[in-house]
Amino acid sequence: MPPLSSNSHRVDPETSQRFYIDGRWCSPTTAATLPVINPATEAVVAHVASGSAQDVDRAVAAARAAFPGWSATPAQSRAQILGKIYDLIIERKEQLAQALSLEMGASITSARAMQVPLAAEHVRVARDLLSTYCFQTVEGSTAIAREPIGVCALITPWNWPLYQITAKVAPAIAAGCTVVLKPSELSPLSALLFAQLVHDAGLPSGVFNLVNGNGPEVGGAMAAHPDVDMISITGSNRAGALVAQAAATTVKRVTQELGGKSPNVLLPDADFNTAVAQGVMSAFRNVGQSCSAPTRMIVPRDRLAEVEALAAATANAIIVGDPQSEETVLGPIANEAQFNRVQAMIEAGLSEGARLICGGPGRVQGHDKGFFTRPTVFSEVGTGMRIAQEEIFGPVLCIIPYETVDEAVAIANDTVYGLGAHVQGQDLDLARSVASRIRAGQVHLNYPAWDPMAPFGGYKRSGNGREYGVHGFEEYLETKAIIGFA
Ligand code: NAD
Repeated sequence: MPPLSSNSHRVDPETSQRFYIDGRWCSPTTAATLPVINPATEAVVAHVASGSAQDVDRAVAAARAAFPGWSATPAQSRAQILGKIYDLIIERKEQLAQALSLEMGASITSARAMQVPLAAEHVRVARDLLSTYCFQTVEGSTAIAREPIGVCALITPWNWPLYQITAKVAPAIAAGCTVVLKPSELSPLSALLFAQLVHDAGLPSGVFNLVNGNGPEVGGAMAAHPDVDMISITGSNRAGALVAQAAATTVKRVTQELGGKSPNVLLPDADFNTAVAQGVMSAFRNVGQSCSAPTRMIVPRDRLAEVEALAAATANAIIVGDPQSEETVLGPIANEAQFNRVQAMIEAGLSEGARLICGGPGRVQGHDKGFFTRPTVFSEVGTGMRIAQEEIFGPVLCIIPYETVDEAVAIANDTVYGLGAHVQGQDLDLARSVASRIRAGQVHLNYPAWDPMAPFGGYKRSGNGREYGVHGFEEYLETKAIIGFA
């Protein structure tokens, strides 16, 4: 029985209050539920079951029982099922896009053009890897085998809900692992659809399990569970650190994809007309709710006035509104807590003396309901200000001036984060040398197309481990040396 009716995003109240465990939709052990709120209207659109440690035990037991069979399933058979999952995502893309738009406010055009197709790409990549990846090599007389790590617990956030799910689930099951997923309690609808889709693709029972619920209770139980071999979380630094603490006593593998404060260095020879406009749109993509959003635009001081004018013109032209309208570029912030955090950071920027170029506090005019936030640009942002140091996770851009390229690099590196970075410039040698000096897991030169094979993850406090492509896949593998093999 699908959790959502097949032609719409509407929730079937009965099944949305169940968990997907051992190949079935099961009743939870407690009656607690969590509301799902449409951030565009503030209306409750569904209730999902809120799990407990006992539900986690059931899901982990199912994943453990399924592990011997799935890990021994030939790679080509695993690839076939991933191929079916990919096909079903494409077949149900409109239903998924509608659910995403409803649960976290993505504009329907961005849900259709980015959230769903990029999520599908992680599945395609994992499928394709299985036809080329060499699970065993021989070096001298020693065989080096790469084997699935075991039962993986996966905790995902609300900003790119389906995309973050497939970035973990697809490589894990491709590697031969079995999984327990806890999606964000704030955006669980697309995850329910995904569970049904995995079921319909014919994944054997117990390989994929889903438990909904809040972070401390369900996520905490997953992190501490003695029968879980690996925990992977994407979310805040606070949650990432708590997960690592809870996981420590059982010495499981921990991977964390956490916050960012990514710089965008505009070198003096950049084409400012395109570099500024694209920089603003990149920072505000998904309403600024992306961990690698380039939210610090670092620009030559003698071009500051020009940059400010270009940034304001771009930001002021952005249509913010009803996510269901195809005109809309940015929908609301995904939830009330995040809206309040973003508002507080805009106020902090004003009180710390940053110069407001456009936007500012309060809701977008004409919206009394819904978490619609004004695209906001600050200039003359000091590197010590909170808005230059802390992740805002909303449509707020900080313009920071520099005098020399060395100073630009120093500013770029001057946060506790190191997730993404951008460099713009026509002299590619200079841009490359600046990229090599930035301490971040991904550096983008001149706004390249998204590369699903490029490893993604953080230096410094942005996390540990990598996702996407071969590097992401290998996180789910153990290494075994068989000495005297040959
Ligand atoms: P969060 O970190 O609380 O939630 C992310 C996931 O972690 C959710 O599934 C949540 O249930 C789970 N979680 C929370 N506490 C946990 C715990 N103690 N143990 C196990 N799992 C736990 O994120 P949030 O509070 O909704 O957002 C706060 C900030 O986090 C945002 O302002 C933003 O800066 C950042 N964030 C980053 C990302 C990212 O992609 N790196 C995504 C979402 C939020």
